[in-house]
Parts: sequence; C-alpha cells; structure tokens
Amino acid sequence: MIYVGVRAGRARYYIVVVHLTMDNYIESIYNKVVEKDPHQPEFLQAVREVLESLEPAIKKYPKYKEYAILERMVEPERVIQFRVPWIDRDGKIQVNRGFRVEFNSAIGPYKGGLRFHRTVYLGLLKFLGWEQIFKNSLTGLPMGGGKGGSDFDPHGKTDAEVESFCTNFMMELYRHIGQFTDVPAGDIGVGGREIGYLYGAYRKITNQHGTCVLTGKGAGWGGSLIRPEATGYGCVYFVQEMLKTRGEDFKGKTVVISGSGNVAQYACEKSIQLGAKVIAMSDSSGWIHDPDGITQEKLEWIMELKNVRRGRIKEYAEHFGVDYSTKGSPWSLKCDIALPSATQNEVDANEAKMLVDNGVIAVGEGANMPCVPEAIETFLEAKVLYGPGKAANAGGVAVSGLEMAQNSQRLFWTREEVDHKLHEIMVNIHKTAYETSKKFGDMGNYMLGANIAGFIKVAEAMIAQGHRA
Ligand code: NDP
Repeated sequence: MIYVGVRAGRARYYIVVVHLTMDNYIESIYNKVVEKDPHQPEFLQAVREVLESLEPAIKKYPKYKEYAILERMVEPERVIQFRVPWIDRDGKIQVNRGFRVEFNSAIGPYKGGLRFHRTVYLGLLKFLGWEQIFKNSLTGLPMGGGKGGSDFDPHGKTDAEVESFCTNFMMELYRHIGQFTDVPAGDIGVGGREIGYLYGAYRKITNQHGTCVLTGKGAGWGGSLIRPEATGYGCVYFVQEMLKTRGEDFKGKTVVISGSGNVAQYACEKSIQLGAKVIAMSDSSGWIHDPDGITQEKLEWIMELKNVRRGRIKEYAEHFGVDYSTKGSPWSLKCDIALPSATQNEVDANEAKMLVDNGVIAVGEGANMPCVPEAIETFLEAKVLYGPGKAANAGGVAVSGLEMAQNSQRLFWTREEVDHKLHEIMVNIHKTAYETSKKFGDMGNYMLGANIAGFIKVAEAMIAQGHRA
C-alpha cells in the first residue's frame, strides 16, 4: 500500500492514493465514501482502516453484505451544523461553527466528546464519531457513537470569553441532546471548565438539572469520580494487559508520552504508580526530555501549569532544568513503551521506525488515530504490541457510561468502586480484542480484533432493528 501525506502543522493528514488490499465489495464501499467526501482525509483514513480489518468478518458472515450494513454504517444518521456567535473581551461579536455528528445509535444513545480546536471541521468530527461507534461497542455498555465540537480555539481566551462561547454553543445544542438521545462529553479543548459552562447553560435554558445529559461533570454536581483519570489510567491498564501476554509489566520500564493534557497527565500518573519512568511529555509547541523521570511531584506541577495557569510545557524545562525542543519529536528517544496521547497522525512512518529501532515493546494509543497507517504497519511487522485507540483509550467513554449509570440511579460510587470497574472493563476489552484476533486468524493483532468485535455487536443490533436502524 502507498500513502501520500500532507503536513498541516504538527498533525499530518494521510490519504491513500494507490492500491488497497481490500476485496472488491469492501473497496467499492470505500470508493463511494471517497467519491462523496474527497475532502475529509481523516474520515477516509479512519474508514479505510476499519473496512480493511473487517474483510474476514464480511467473508465469514455474508448476511452483513445482504443487509447492507457497511453501506449504512459509513453514513452518519444525522449531522447538525450551526453558527455560534459570542462576545470577545473587547465587546465585539465573533462567530464560530458548531457541529454534532450523530453517527450510529443502534446500541444506545449517541455518546462522544466535544472538541474545541481551530482545526475542527466536519470531516474531523466524522472521523472521531466513526471511531466512537466501535470504541463504545467494545466497552460492553449501551452507547452509540457521536462526536461534536467547534473551530473555536480556547488557547489564550479569557474565562469570560470561554463562558460566552460555551453558553452560546449550548443555546443551539441543547435541543438536540438528552439522556436517551445524545450525551456529549469533553475532548481536546473541552475540560472541566468548559463542561461546567456548558452544563450551567443547559440548566438555565431548560430549567432542569440535566445530570444525564453531559458527562465529565464536576464531582460535586453529578460527575463521576475517576472520570478525569479514566482515559489515561485505562490506556495504561490496556497496555498492562498486552504486556502480560509476553510476561512483562510496567515496572522498571521507560515510557515516552506525547501531549500534556487530560489523557497524557493521567497516563503519566498511572505509569509512575506502576513503577515506570516517564521521560518525556509535549504540547503543540514542543517537547521536554527529563532523563531522571517525571515524578509525582513534577507531574502535579505540570497539572497546575496546564489546568490552572494554562501555560506551555517549555516552562517545565526552564523550571526543572531539562532539555526542551521544538524540533523532531519525543519518538526519537529510546524507550520501552510509547503512549501517544496528544492528537491524530502524530506518529509518522519514520518515527515508528525510530521507536522500533530503539527497542520499543508496546505502543498504546491514548489519543484517537495518533499513528499513521504506515506506522501501524511498522509496529505490526516488528511484532510490537500495538494497542489501537478504539481499545486502548476506551476507558474515558467507559467511565462516562458509568457516570450515566450513577446519574440514573441518583447514586455515587467511591473512587475505588469506579476504578475497579474501569480496570475490569479494560481487561475485558483486551480479552475481547485478543480473542477476536485469534478467532479471525491473526492472534495479537489488536487492531483487527478491536475493529471486528466492535463492528459485530453494532451490525447485529442494526439487523435486529430492521433496515431503518
Ligand atoms: P487536551 O486538550 O486535554 O490535551 C491535548 C494535548 O495534546 C495538549 O497537550 C495539546 O497541546 C496537545 N495537542 C493538541 N493538538 C495538538 C497538535 N495538533 N499537535 C501537537 N500536540 C497537540 O485533550 P485530551 O487529553 O482530552 O485529548 C488528547 C487525545 O486523546 C485526543 O486525540 C482525544 O480525542 C483523545 N481522547 C480523549 C479522551 C478524553 O477522555 N479526554 C477519551 C478518548 C480519547 P496544547 O496544550 O499546546 O494545546
């Protein structure tokens, strides 16, 4: 397979230009998607990855072709686009675009985060919503797939500007969401602060405590304990399970993490707790290398820097006297475990090769689609344990599902209870992906296993519910 990559900032977009290793039926579906949406490269990349993996399942179960499951699945059930006017610090009206992609609700209400980032457009959210269908299915909880967001960039905005934007965003979104319809959460650029403003607006508009309508809420007003930690912890739990299949664990391992946001922070914390040494983190401006390891105390400093002061990772290098670089990437460092936890297409083919040459044994995707297709091929060929985002970062949405369960019961579970359930879910996702990969003839190919297992559950629900589902 040959790919062409177009660089756009630090994230890169990849499109397939030559020869797909798909059978004719699957290729015809992919080609139709390309024809309809040629300008949505991330969506095309994500669809292709799943379709390629599904080939053995489609061959084994011809009914999926008979019921046109793939044809239906690649088309979102509903896409909502709206304008979001808001007031900036100078009292001027600004306008951004808001979206919600309601992709597939066969197994439950649409569920998936909101991303606020300048790169957001429909194609990006379709890629994320598509991934969410299979990820949510893998958790074993009744959640469909959706995603939303805006090209609003919270970087450098005042709290008042962010509040104005969130309030106006919710002025439109509220009519489309609901505990039995669609339940958004956070993603890049949408953390505790933004969820708070969104929830406050929802409550004022509807005159209701819509506790079941958003997840990632504060622990004092309907949120679940362990939700902030869930994606990062869950990713480490998944990698821990992969390592076990080779008689290994985190203890004494060197770990490199990209990003320094929600996922990266808690992937770092759990790695430290399990006895590993985390030597690098990054943000969209550059990366730091701390050869002595980021300790819990240093991590708390990063959390304060990123979540409260909203500063740059460069300040870590200045404060602790370590190296900082805006060139290259942390994937050039020698490490045992790599946890890309920033954004899509952040590990390219050369970086994957560097990781392999430097002896990496496991890669766990904290972010969504952080490795380009050639990088994944490199890992699979080198027999590196590769945990795809759909499986490895499903802990966040899983605990969002647990938040919904607690809200419905009007009960709160303890940290220990939620963490225990999260761990159990990640162990099960690993087991499902592993056993499915074995059943379909490529044992240990977690991408194949996760894609097929996630797909079959949704496909069966769609067949059971008739052709309109
Ligand atoms: P945050 O906004 O909290 O953090 C994102 C981090 O990645 C920041 O350090 C940011 O740097 C960096 N980053 C963002 N865009 C780029 C870019 N284009 N190039 C380099 N670095 C970048 O987001 P999250 O931690 O929540 O999300 C990270 C990833 O994990 C995303 O792919 C998201 O979809 C995925 N994910 C998140 C879940 C969650 O529960 N939060 C659940 C499942 C997946 P800077 O500070 O400069 O902006």
